[in-house]
Amino acid sequence: MARILKGAEVVDTMNREVAAQVEQLKAAGIDPMLTILRVGEQGDDISYERAATKRAEKVGVGVKNVVLPEGVSQEALLDVVAGLNADGAVHGVLMLRPLPQHLDEGAARNALDPRKDVDGITDLSLAGVFTGADVGFAPCTAQACMEILDHFGFGLEGRRAVVVGRSLVVGKPAAMMLLGRHATVTVAHSRTADLKKACREADVLVACVGRARMLGADYLAPEQVVLDVGINVAEGGSLAGDVDFDAACAIVDAITPVPDGVGTVTTSVLVKHVVQAAQRSLS
Ligand code: NDP
Repeated sequence: MARILKGAEVVDTMNREVAAQVEQLKAAGIDPMLTILRVGEQGDDISYERAATKRAEKVGVGVKNVVLPEGVSQEALLDVVAGLNADGAVHGVLMLRPLPQHLDEGAARNALDPRKDVDGITDLSLAGVFTGADVGFAPCTAQACMEILDHFGFGLEGRRAVVVGRSLVVGKPAAMMLLGRHATVTVAHSRTADLKKACREADVLVACVGRARMLGADYLAPEQVVLDVGINVAEGGSLAGDVDFDAACAIVDAITPVPDGVGTVTTSVLVKHVVQAAQRSLS
């Protein structure tokens, strides 16, 4: 039976560390503050906004919600972003995406000051992940994968890591971060030949595909550590990861569940980044 790597365990440790850092900041006269910028009334955005607000406030990080109407113009959106960049009381900005179709998302995300880009969405932040330069922050989900591996003590040096998925949000940054920790990394995607074989060869398998339970027994091997990033609505409306959890439990060494795995750690990484941004603002 696989060990279940529960996100809550990682979150508890992170919350303790972050809450202590918040106290130190407050003693120095800094109130760490996250602004969540939402355009429109998308249900997923509102749920994430609520979850992030709750998590931030639990450790003493303030949250200010800025909500713009669905039909906001690009110019008005950019004005708001410029205002947040200039506001010394705002340490981190989470821009909920995707933005409505009529907006130029690339221009909007790159308008954000990388020092406040706590979800790693600007090109400069992503460049920092690729070059190792200390610019901005890594995308929270990719960072959450690393937090989980570190928390449970899985070393990466010399290990074979396979990341299935190559999005800029998760797959590519996760691959770079694993490489930075001296894993030998394969990035697989929809055109990968013999994906099952590639996955079975992994010591660490990171699934970020977006297809409910796609990675079944044929993709898995004993002694693997599996990070299931996928959050999918399966038949019947329940949430499922990209990995067939029941099959995996009988085969692999350890796996993150869905829900209560990578997703919950992602929210804590966001809060941690806000606190780091506030710390950096001191220097
Ligand atoms: P994208 O749709 O942007 O990327 C999916 C990737 O999976 C693509 O690279 C695609 O390959 C690859 N892929 C799709 N189908 C197959 C297939 N049949 N075989 C192999 N590869 C395939 O998704 P995201 O990266 O944004 O999200 C992935 C999953 O992670 C989703 O379930 C999402 O909900 C979840 N997620 C979870 C978060 C969390 O906090 N836990 C945060 C963000 C996302 P190709 O490039 O060739 O098209």
